[in-house]
Amino acid sequence: MEKSHVGMELCYFCQEAKGVILHKRLAKTVPHEGIYNSVPCDECAEHMKQGIILISIENGQTQPPAGELPNPYRSGDWVVINEDGFTKAFGDHPALKSRMAFVDDNAWDKMGLPRHTNS
Ligand SMILES: [Zn+2]
Repeated sequence: MEKSHVGMELCYFCQEAKGVILHKRLAKTVPHEGIYNSVPCDECAEHMKQGIILISIENGQTQPPAGELPNPYRSGDWVVINEDGFTKAFGDHPALKSRMAFVDDNAWDKMGLPRHTNS
């Protein structure tokens, strides 16, 4: 398969490529590479069964207009937290339903969440 005929679909949550979609099907409506929807890859779907995915973002990132997928600048860390732990930290939060939440760096470090990057 030639490279120019495919577009990589990235998982919205972990940003790993979750598969290749045929360029034909995409027509001209989407870029060749990008995050197209919030359907998790298999791995993330599994994480979501076990807990809530937390993704670190830079301080001061804002939420997008309603109806758009939020895509704040990510500072590179993400963890899965079980429901008990999540509820203790955040209470009754919509992320219990969506199974993921963005956490800014300030809050991330205050909570003592692990850092995988040293930058
Ligand atoms: Zn994923």
